[in-house]
Amino acid sequence: MQTIKLLIIEDSSADADLIRDFLKESSSAIFSITHVSRFNEAVEMLQKDFFDAILMDMTLPDAQGLSMMERFKEYTYGVPIIILTGTFDDNALAIEALHRGASDYLVKEGIEERAISRSIRYAIERKKGEVELQRAMDELARSNTDLEQFASMVSHDLKAPLRNIGGFVRLLQRDYQGKMDKTADEYISYTVEGIDKLNNLIDDLLHYARVGRSEESMAPIHCEVVFNEAVGNLKAAIHETGATITHDLLPTLMGRQSEMVQLFQNLIGNAIKYYDKKPPVVHIASEQTGKEWRITVSDNGIGMDPKYIDQIFLPFKRLHTYQAYPGTGIGLAICRKIVEGYGGRIWVESVLGQGSTFYFTLSAQEQKG
Ligand code: ADP
Repeated sequence: MQTIKLLIIEDSSADADLIRDFLKESSSAIFSITHVSRFNEAVEMLQKDFFDAILMDMTLPDAQGLSMMERFKEYTYGVPIIILTGTFDDNALAIEALHRGASDYLVKEGIEERAISRSIRYAIERKKGEVELQRAMDELARSNTDLEQFASMVSHDLKAPLRNIGGFVRLLQRDYQGKMDKTADEYISYTVEGIDKLNNLIDDLLHYARVGRSEESMAPIHCEVVFNEAVGNLKAAIHETGATITHDLLPTLMGRQSEMVQLFQNLIGNAIKYYDKKPPVVHIASEQTGKEWRITVSDNGIGMDPKYIDQIFLPFKRLHTYQAYPGTGIGLAICRKIVEGYGGRIWVESVLGQGSTFYFTLSAQEQKG
């Protein structure tokens, strides 16, 4: 059976004895109990021993109420606290204590063994869950930082020699093109192309690693403004392809301006890039379903085999050669990282030769003020 080390802080010895007696009979755990009757004694005890849980009366001779809770926190980090109140009349105080981090509260009047031991066990379980969640979040934050640092380092270390190679190959091209045979000229131009591609890949890798790590904080973003900016950035491609782009009225969503522009731009950019003979026709639709908005970007382009629809969101995954459609394959991976970072989902439906529809969802924020 589990042994639970419990600290009871209670100035009424009678109440403390009653709880001790109750817990002695508990069939769900063995309670090893330490009882103190003053706040200062409790602090001393916590400095020299570890406890699984604390039962604490809110009115002690040397400290009372919520200010005591606040002072107490620095000594009890991670140990669940259950508040003991005298009667139901103290409810408001107890609820305030919950807001300030207490795990539960028990009313001493008419208290039962089962209620106490259940409350203690749940408080411990919950705290364990919280601690594990926090650890997982810390771990995630660390691995994101690691990834960014790794990407920065790699890109810096790779780019320096690459710049050298590029510089010399370009010199070779400038000074020797046409002076060697045709094959040599070809080799040089392939090398220059390869270097440019590698440079782009490195930039994209860094870009991908940095998604979600900008200084910009989350704020309500007007998607109409975002749309206009994205389309503005794609002006040349729109002009070149003769694309028609229409859109529904777009909502305001929580996000980061630069990432939202990136999201719209990547999706619209693809919609006007992956076309064959017909000029691209693109529509951006928006629809609110319950607590989320669903934004749709549909095109009449080349579409894709449905068996690849999950893979294209992976970094550097492409379905085409660079010659047929240039690109590095990072755009949709960035879209996914942005959307999932905001708690949304992104997916695509497509028929080969008939166009694609990309969807993403983001939660609908209540409009404040
Ligand atoms: P890139 O465009 O640089 O290749 P993306 O991550 O944006 O990178 O896209 C990955 C792949 O998904 C593309 O190479 C293409 O094969 C496919 N794809 C993306 N958008 C579309 C689209 N609108 N229509 C058809 N295929 C698409």
